[in-house]
Amino acid sequence: LKLTEGLARTREQITGRIDALLASHGRIDAQFWEELEEILIMADVGFEPAMQLTGRLKERARKAGTDDPAAFRDLLREELQDIFRAPRRIAAVTPPEVVLMIGVNGVGKTTTIAKLAHRARMQGKKVLIAAADTFRAAAIEQLEVWAKRVGADFHAKSAGSDPAAVAFEAMDVALEGGYDIVFVDTAGRLHTKVNLMEELHKIRRILERKHPGAPHRSILVIDATTGQNALSQTKLFNEACGVDEIVLTKLDGTAKGGIVVAVAMQFGIPITFVGLGEKMEDLRPFDGGDFALALLG
Ligand code: GDP
Repeated sequence: LKLTEGLARTREQITGRIDALLASHGRIDAQFWEELEEILIMADVGFEPAMQLTGRLKERARKAGTDDPAAFRDLLREELQDIFRAPRRIAAVTPPEVVLMIGVNGVGKTTTIAKLAHRARMQGKKVLIAAADTFRAAAIEQLEVWAKRVGADFHAKSAGSDPAAVAFEAMDVALEGGYDIVFVDTAGRLHTKVNLMEELHKIRRILERKHPGAPHRSILVIDATTGQNALSQTKLFNEACGVDEIVLTKLDGTAKGGIVVAVAMQFGIPITFVGLGEKMEDLRPFDGGDFALALLG
């Protein structure tokens, strides 16, 4: 599935409505901006980001000295490309690279770990998946099934074990086994923020102690179909433990791809991949420029 196909419903929603907006206005005026704000909010850009984005577009139009709707598409595309230009931290990594996977249950975290592991396998990497979300036996089994399917090795303990112990042992396995990359799954239930912080901090400390520099990346998985919930989860996890990257799942099923814009504007955390389906191949690297084109091109 290509990004443009995955985004078909978002395109219909945003592009279709923006086209109609442009067609119905001889020039860009106050009413135009109001209607634009409404379209953005409907597409799940969110209230605050929609206001902000409209403000920035007004400024861009003013600077360009244009009130011609025909010029608007370019302005919007340029603005989106600017928004997505979040700096990506790329640190030098001594293998194994350790990737902490965070996010609440149901967002597609397990599937995303499988997809990322599959990508790494396709690049010829030796991959370990560690089940440090020890809450449900079924979830551990599910992760193991995926690990087998994508050709990754798997480390787990029985349900109810200390997640930090899983992380500890997995690091031994990874260091001794010459692994290139380790994906560490973490608790997906949204209990109190304090518990969540403590558990994640404990895992981080263990990883760091075992392998200085680890975890090299903390990847938050959020579900595009949950709109504003995805934003509150991002805020929570970012405050609790810091988020380096975001993977946005289920962008195929939703007409509300505007969430991509909201995440970029509110947090400045780069979205590195988007999920466009349930299979291991259904993961696309995310590029803001491409996204802007897919949306508007
Ligand atoms: P977890 O509880 O966060 O680990 O979620 P799972 O990985 O088990 O996924 C929950 C459901 O979402 C499953 O039915 C997945 O097949 C589905 N899913 C995950 N990612 C995507 C995606 O990008 N697109 C679609 N359409 N479904 C997805």
